[in-house]
Amino acid sequence: MAPRVLVIEDNRHNSELLDYLLTAYGYVSLLAAEGRDGLRTARIQRPDLILLDIRMPGMDGFAVVAEIRRDPGLRRTPTVAVTASVMTGDRERITAAGFDGYIRKPIEPEMFIAQIERFLGGPIAHPGTTARR
Ligand code: MN
Repeated sequence: MAPRVLVIEDNRHNSELLDYLLTAYGYVSLLAAEGRDGLRTARIQRPDLILLDIRMPGMDGFAVVAEIRRDPGLRRTPTVAVTASVMTGDRERITAAGFDGYIRKPIEPEMFIAQIERFLGGPIAHPGTTARR
């Protein structure tokens, strides 16, 4: 079964890109445009991976990951920050906040799948490649 990846991101351009890439590579993408809704979706859907924007109005990524780590049903779900701010000293804060890692914005489409596979325990069979079951 295709891994399900929840994208919590307020920037529509970014979430559309992530949705496109995930779907193209055979993942199921779930989208939420803000933190509170993303947390609700995570609790209901139990995704295999969460990609979480840091800067969002209302509940930001740090607040969302804090709730994820407090939730017995979600606390082991790999959660990856998607952020442009890792150059400005947020790296330690990202790790300390409970994220499993981060992906830098702008997203690099040719790097993206390899970046997320690390958090999903390896590659899946991609469409157009030899099937592996
Ligand atoms: Mn944002």
